[in-house]
Amino acid sequence: MAETRNRIAYIKGDGIGPEVVESSMSVVNAAVKKSSGIIEWVEAKAGSEAEKEYGDRLPEECINTIKDCKVAIKGPIETPVGKGFKSINVRLRLLFDLYANIRPVKYVQGISSPIVNPERVNMVIFRENTDDLYRGIEWKSDSAEAGKVRDFLNSNFNSGIENDAGIGIKVISRAKTERITRMALKYAINHNRRSITIMHKGNIMKYTEGAFREWAYSVAQNEFRDRIVTESDIASGKSASGKILFNDRIADNMFQQIITRPEEYDIILAPNLNGDYISDAAGALIGNIGVLGGANIGDEYAVFEAVHGTAPKYAGKNTANPMGMMKACSLMLEHIGMGDAASLMDNAISAVLEKKIATKDIARYMGTEPAGTREFSDAVIEKINRT
Ligand code: NAP
Repeated sequence: MAETRNRIAYIKGDGIGPEVVESSMSVVNAAVKKSSGIIEWVEAKAGSEAEKEYGDRLPEECINTIKDCKVAIKGPIETPVGKGFKSINVRLRLLFDLYANIRPVKYVQGISSPIVNPERVNMVIFRENTDDLYRGIEWKSDSAEAGKVRDFLNSNFNSGIENDAGIGIKVISRAKTERITRMALKYAINHNRRSITIMHKGNIMKYTEGAFREWAYSVAQNEFRDRIVTESDIASGKSASGKILFNDRIADNMFQQIITRPEEYDIILAPNLNGDYISDAAGALIGNIGVLGGANIGDEYAVFEAVHGTAPKYAGKNTANPMGMMKACSLMLEHIGMGDAASLMDNAISAVLEKKIATKDIARYMGTEPAGTREFSDAVIEKINRT
């Protein structure tokens, strides 16, 4: 059988990025070697390293490499708070129209969790990636632009905005809501998932988050009628058997319910900001966010990254947990059709944790001596090689 060759771009990123990306790439290489297929890695620089080399945090070279490879893995990239440059992460998502941020959150045996039955946690978050307050349409309170927007709203709509207010615009559009809803429904069908819950604050933000809810329901009901059932269908006697339950919950309520009744949540479909917040809360249920990987997927391109950030205090210390990045790489392998290699990686990570080999963030709760980033990765590679 001919081997498939895939060119994958990699961005090391900032802070702990280089360590977790390099560790994960060696684990991917070990897993791919065991299955059919070849990966050719192509470096793309972004973040502070690119700033030093090109004087630009997101240089054309990086953009062109991703365009060429179509698939990339990416370490975390720093974004300053309240000042400075726009998030490179957000720019990449918008530039490549990576509209779905998919984050599986499933408990891995061996990790200590703050809840009593973490094995009940098995959710996949579908976060819309290109709309909402993350579009970056915002102006500083003392800028001319903020002044103009305030004047326009106050004089035309009597909005009563204070003259020292900063302005940010929340945009949620119909087409973008519909396409991520379709992707979540197709994913649910292909992965035999039980339910999809729309997470929204539509009771307050009626024409943005409320509309997200309404448009998502209309896709489910008009395009997937034979595959889904709603709570009102069930109330009126319709059978739920073999169907995906399509329902919705108000965002703040969900933060307590994913803790008290995690088994009720399967796929969560959320606008950008809600999806960001709930991902970290869900990550905490299974130990910490250091273990979560995610995929940013569009119709043409895909970029895979850990959910965590640059954790600067651990940079260069061989302390960071590379598991989130490894999980992102396993999603990447699945995406390019190397599901065998992805399973090898996932199983090896679980086996290593079961032997209580873990980095500091997890080992401190296991009461065991922590392994370094490299030692943890070596243990995973060894397990793959022995499989
Ligand atoms: P963070 O980097 O995720 O770190 C927060 C805390 O989480 C760390 O101090 C550490 O906790 C723990 N942690 C996260 N990843 C870990 C890992 N792999 N191994 C061990 N512990 C880990 O979040 P942040 O401090 O809010 O953000 C720092 C920078 O990262 C910011 O510039 C932010 O913009 C950026 N960021 C980038 C991305 C991205 O590129 N996609 C995502 C999020 C944030 P303890 O202190 O408890 O040990």
